[in-house]
Amino acid sequence: MTPSQTPVPDLSDPVPDAPRFPRSYRRPISLGSDFDHIRRLMADSTVSTVCAEALCPNKNECWSRGHVTFQILGKVCSRHCAFCAETSGAPATPDPSEPEKLADLALRLRLKHIVITSPSRDDLPDLGIGHYIRCLTTLREKAPGLTVEMLIPDFQGKDDLLDLLCQARPDVLNHNLETVQRLTPTIRSAQASYPRSLAVLKRASDRGLRTKSGIMVGLGETIVEVFQTLADIREQGVAWMTVGQYLPPSATHAPLSRYYSPDEFATIRRRALEIGFEKVMAQPYVRSSYQAGSFADGKEMPLS
Ligand code: SF4
Repeated sequence: MTPSQTPVPDLSDPVPDAPRFPRSYRRPISLGSDFDHIRRLMADSTVSTVCAEALCPNKNECWSRGHVTFQILGKVCSRHCAFCAETSGAPATPDPSEPEKLADLALRLRLKHIVITSPSRDDLPDLGIGHYIRCLTTLREKAPGLTVEMLIPDFQGKDDLLDLLCQARPDVLNHNLETVQRLTPTIRSAQASYPRSLAVLKRASDRGLRTKSGIMVGLGETIVEVFQTLADIREQGVAWMTVGQYLPPSATHAPLSRYYSPDEFATIRRRALEIGFEKVMAQPYVRSSYQAGSFADGKEMPLS
């Protein structure tokens, strides 16, 4: 570390008792005019949103501002991760008309930037990559000018599949590490791995795509491990980074270790910028698709 770099702060160890919800995390509940519009559109559509399926705490805020992240390939994930609220089990056959429906929703919502994600589909012969590409080509055709961010699973680290998606050239390729290396085996599915996710990011960066990743904090990691994870991700050529507070979706999910303060998030953001990330969002309620459009359109984040 050079003398000018942010020093490793002295963060307290995980507290033994249940951490208390910090005052600084409270925020007003306000529903803007777009909320009902999106709610009605999604209620009439068979396309899902990760905002609803993953019980995202930002749903009111994002939908009120006209931001929504679509979830293709169904509502059921073939994997089970300890942090995630998505339903696990046997997924349904993908809807072949979903790409058209997605394009129709993007047009009706007048989106300039769209984020598309999916559950893992290890059950499908192509792991779902063909469906991703059909969604992308349909959006390119029906909604020219729309920028497309794909928040992808690891596709089992299969380079040939990943290359197909890279050739289709989404504007942003997003893949989350979720947590630090030591906690990956307990927090993510046994089918996921830290080195594999890094390799996915590297392959996409090497093929000239704009890459983005994200992690959660508050799962029991140390700040040294957080800084190491940032460095590992940056080493793969990743340009954009998100860091948010883990909030357990239920009592059966991985327990919360601690809440990070806004100052601690600011320290993490500073460190990430110092090691070369171009854009970084680090705040308690940041999620990997939070305000994704403002990353893409070059506006500075109003965060940290
Ligand atoms: S942060 Fe992303 S997933 Fe959460 S509500 Fe906003 S757009 Fe949806």
